[in-house]
Amino acid sequence: MTINKTKGVAGSRKGQPALRRCVGCREMINAMDLIRVVKSPDGIFALGTPKSPGRGAYICKDANCLAKAAKSKGFDRSFKQKVPQEIYHSLEDMLK
Ligand SMILES: [Zn+2]
Repeated sequence: MTINKTKGVAGSRKGQPALRRCVGCREMINAMDLIRVVKSPDGIFALGTPKSPGRGAYICKDANCLAKAAKSKGFDRSFKQKVPQEIYHSLEDMLK
């Protein structure tokens, strides 16, 4: 794995919003306005915060983006594996 020095960790640069790509609409959005789905180093999926350890994927707080992500399998592609249905259910609950 290579480390991209221009990107850094979310919020590590003061005053500059960390932009992340929504897996639904594919747009670059301020990470603060997105929900982060994180896969822990143990391989457990959860809805995380920007500080949770592990690999993350982001989605807008928007049911339309969730529908798009489910249809395009954006999360599955981002994590290179199938994301559990519970994650989609949790996101649905959150976006109600
Ligand atoms: Zn979106």
